[in-house]
Amino acid sequence: MSAPTSAGPASKQSSSAATDPAIVFDRVGVDYGRGRKTTVALAEFSLRVAAGETVALLGPSGSGKSTALKALAGFVRPTSGRVRLAGRDVTDLSPAKRGIGVVVQSYALFPHMRVAENVAFGLRSHRVPRGEIGPRVREALEMVGMADYGRRLPRELSGGQQQRVAIARALAIRPAVLLLDEPLAALDAQLRQSMLTELQQLRKALPDTAMLYVTHDQAEALALADRIAVMRDARLVDVDTAENLWRRPPSSFTAAFLGGANLLPCTVKHITGSVALVQCGERTLRAEAPKPGVGQLEWAPDDEGLLCVRPHTVQIGSTNERDAVLGSIVSSVWRGSVTRLHLDVTGLPVELTADVPGHVDTAVGAVVGVKLPDTAGVLIPAPVGSESRSAGASSGATA
Ligand code: ADP
Ligand code: MG
Repeated sequence: MSAPTSAGPASKQSSSAATDPAIVFDRVGVDYGRGRKTTVALAEFSLRVAAGETVALLGPSGSGKSTALKALAGFVRPTSGRVRLAGRDVTDLSPAKRGIGVVVQSYALFPHMRVAENVAFGLRSHRVPRGEIGPRVREALEMVGMADYGRRLPRELSGGQQQRVAIARALAIRPAVLLLDEPLAALDAQLRQSMLTELQQLRKALPDTAMLYVTHDQAEALALADRIAVMRDARLVDVDTAENLWRRPPSSFTAAFLGGANLLPCTVKHITGSVALVQCGERTLRAEAPKPGVGQLEWAPDDEGLLCVRPHTVQIGSTNERDAVLGSIVSSVWRGSVTRLHLDVTGLPVELTADVPGHVDTAVGAVVGVKLPDTAGVLIPAPVGSESRSAGASSGATA
């Protein structure tokens, strides 16, 4: 471990801190184990987070989210690449010297220490002068609404309260960077919702703090993040604002993971600007064809693609409605606010998933009229090679 550099380089680093991103992952790789037992947990991972920005790392279990956080916090050593905080390369620094606030799913409070002592612990290890510790502990506990609980032991608190204390402990050091690893995952659904609102308020109260928020729950990512970084199999798949990723998913994986999607194999017939006519089985449909990303080819006739149709945009009605095609119901599951139908639709190559408002009481095998919107969906590049695994039709329709 090298000590922080002094004078010369340090002053140069601080002068650039205003313009450097708060967080930089520069092609970070992390392997666990050696030889034949090696697990590649993170590969060529690059991401920048600005001061004041919240980025959610979203992906299924095992996709490398926690590993990315640990590499930044200093709990695991990258096998390759560098991590920087405000322009300063911290790859070789110990966790304590990075000054990052970290909150994990399991709270990780010291069970034998009272709440105030738990919060003070980090301040002591950061060598905050003794006289400042009391006020800083109170300030941090106030931020999370726990000012009256300083003398309790962790076991005398509910799960939600323990997580608030863990957040206060992370905030007490006034970190420029706050990392949260599935902080709500251990809470029940109702509490998770109210904690989510509290985290939104906390976000507003810390306008200069960069936050990296790990979750496998798209609802949390949509609620909190300025941008979402979608991860899969140790790699970053897509990163953009939540709205862009949701409206125009750049990949089939992101389409399915964020919002749920029907992904219909199709061929481009005709293209004008950002509107395409595509052939889906026996049907010709209109699609939005977003400009491809940097380094990708423009859409052209005969290109193979996937038409992403959101389940909530599919309409079900009577069979004699105008523009309706026939579909027979394969399955029907009531989910409270919507009923999820799987439909075998005339002329379409794969089954269609539809989320219809309310409780739809239609028997399996019944034939209904199915309508897609005028612009049926967004065109997405067909996955290549191993990517095609699990990107299938409605498998990801998890909304
Ligand atoms: P996520 O947080 O997205 O669920 P992780 O970053 O925890 O994923 O894990 C990524 C991969 O690395 C998984 O395959 C996991 O099994 C593996 N992994 C994580 N930690 C270790 C470890 N300490 N030793 C070996 N393999 C690990
Ligand atoms: Mg994890």
